[in-house]
Amino acid sequence: MLREDIKAFINTIPKDVTIVAATKYVDSSDMLDLYNAGITNFGENRTDAFLDKYNQLFEYDITWHFIGHLQKNKAKDIINKIDYLHSLDSLELAKIIDKNRKTPLKVFIEVSVNLEENKNGVAYFKLNDFYQELLQYKNIEVVGLMMMAIKQDDDVHLEKQFNKLNELRCELENKFNKKLPYLSMGMSDDYKIALKCGATHIRLGRILWKN
Ligand SMILES: *Cc1c(COP(=O)(O)O)cnc(C)c1O
Repeated sequence: MLREDIKAFINTIPKDVTIVAATKYVDSSDMLDLYNAGITNFGENRTDAFLDKYNQLFEYDITWHFIGHLQKNKAKDIINKIDYLHSLDSLELAKIIDKNRKTPLKVFIEVSVNLEENKNGVAYFKLNDFYQELLQYKNIEVVGLMMMAIKQDDDVHLEKQFNKLNELRCELENKFNKKLPYLSMGMSDDYKIALKCGATHIRLGRILWKN
């Protein structure tokens, strides 16, 4: 269920920032409540859940994001239904998207700024090469970078992680002389800090709903 003060909450977020509602905890009727409160960008984590919700709500004026790890063998099922992919992190996946997508797909490259083991994302020191490879694919339009922060108690360490993603974004823009306008970072616990560091897309789950 939606938090009661959802409209007031939405009003605390700067107008030029996109709230992508993470929908993994809720069903399509909750999503409609959120839609009626003014949020029209939704992000799913799993392809089966995405298809379920998409099939129920595709007639609404919704922008569909996929924010979870996208398995290569499932990519085809959703690739022409989503508007944004936040988690591109492999060239194999890029190849599949390029081949199956009918129009250029807007993607964020998921970056590992902390180099944690067993986590998704392109290691930050491989980002230049990865980006360069992506330029050959006509059906992939890189619009920005995405990250998941490591939970940290103090704001300074979180800021360091978020600032790093923004620095990487600037480096790519300068090196390739191509605009890279977006930063997808910040979740319920850390979005305020992410906003300070330049987030253009915040992915919010728990904070939108009543516990
Ligand atoms: C669930 C999820 C979120 C939102 O998490 P909350 O902490 O509930 O705000 C953001 N991004 C991704 C990739 C997620 O899976």
